Amino acid sequence: MFGRKKHTFVMIFSLLISSYIVSDENYAVVSNHLIDGKSDQIRTDLAVIISNNKISEVIDRNLIPKDTRLIDLGNSTLMPGLINAHEHPLLHENDYQTAHLKSSSAYKALIGLKTHQGLLASGWTTIRVMGDGDVFYANQDIKKAIENKIFIGPRITGAAHYISITGGGGDINYMSPEQTPLPDGLIADGPQEIIKAIRKEIKYGSDWIKIMVTGAFMSVGDNPENVSFSPEELKAAVDEAKRHGIPVAAHAHATEGINQAIRAGVRSIEHGTYLDEESISLMVKYGTFYVPTIYVGDYYANSGKLLAQEKNDDYYLSYRSEWLSMIEKAYLAGVKITVGSDLCGYGIEPSLCVREFATLVEAGMTPMDAIKAGTIVGAELVGWDDELGSIESGKLADIIAVKGNPLEDISVLESPILVIKDGKIIINKLDSYSALEK
Ligand SMILES: [Zn+2]
Repeated sequence: MFGRKKHTFVMIFSLLISSYIVSDENYAVVSNHLIDGKSDQIRTDLAVIISNNKISEVIDRNLIPKDTRLIDLGNSTLMPGLINAHEHPLLHENDYQTAHLKSSSAYKALIGLKTHQGLLASGWTTIRVMGDGDVFYANQDIKKAIENKIFIGPRITGAAHYISITGGGGDINYMSPEQTPLPDGLIADGPQEIIKAIRKEIKYGSDWIKIMVTGAFMSVGDNPENVSFSPEELKAAVDEAKRHGIPVAAHAHATEGINQAIRAGVRSIEHGTYLDEESISLMVKYGTFYVPTIYVGDYYANSGKLLAQEKNDDYYLSYRSEWLSMIEKAYLAGVKITVGSDLCGYGIEPSLCVREFATLVEAGMTPMDAIKAGTIVGAELVGWDDELGSIESGKLADIIAVKGNPLEDISVLESPILVIKDGKIIINKLDSYSALEK
């Protein structure tokens, strides 16, 4: 009994000590360049002062108060932590639908935590999960474990499942009718089932609703050129989510599906491959965000890794250049484009996901605007732009540093040398430090 009391005392004491140290955490990060997420120009010779979990000041490097602990990164660039607007951390194996059938939700939670940590170490301090192949709610559990400080990980928002019609992109369409597995998506048909599915998503912690408005590229047996949801189903989905104050993200490839979804009031269009001039003006008019997810197509094209390889290649490769020119048009028209990788489930090297920035530059965005797409615009999409997405006093200290200047070479984003989340250093390659390996 005494032993337990002593143990409790030691625990409380050490908690007090650690919270004292954390609350006293005050340091400055200095590098030659700073991209603050707001200015159009790179800024120089500044220091970011971090106090507890916040950015307390951005000041001239010569004005750093004496005795402040200093991390001097020399010729590198400080920038806001990256916001990945479209990811599926539980997907694993290239044939993700079969992998879903083989793995329990508990297993998915374990590998999903590892995936989230890998993404954080690659500079993604915030992840918006766009539904996952999971019967239960592993991402919500991972999020809870991170928020309860049991594990280190990124900030997580998003949907537990992608809601799909029977035979749609979230259904398993390659088994005999005698087999009735629980699919990777959440199947709902008709307004009533969709309303119930949305209420269940919200009940178990989804802070986004993800709907598969059209068919998909990588799933088996459906067609991305088909609109899956009827107008009544789409309206029911958006109305119900709105009643609960929850935003809707619409997976949509087919032009009509994109345009119907924007008109119905979704907050974001995912992929939007066959967007047309009308889609662009509708997105501008409604303030809809656009998450193109280009690089995942390059990664899987001709890879032989997908069960639906032929379908994917037919659609992706034949339309890639036209799609990129439409993305440029959307960008020039002022559509709010964000960065989503849609690639880095478990087993994919997380640094690859950062290549989405380079494909947005290939489409015509300036490197600075691509970086804003993956920082401040992403923060606006998830509704956290008051606290995240830029390096300004008062915001949460989610900051990364990359070698050199990403405006000259965007690929430097692939290997950040410093990652700070909530004021805590996660990775500092200059010191070979990783909080994830402790
Ligand atoms: Zn996706």
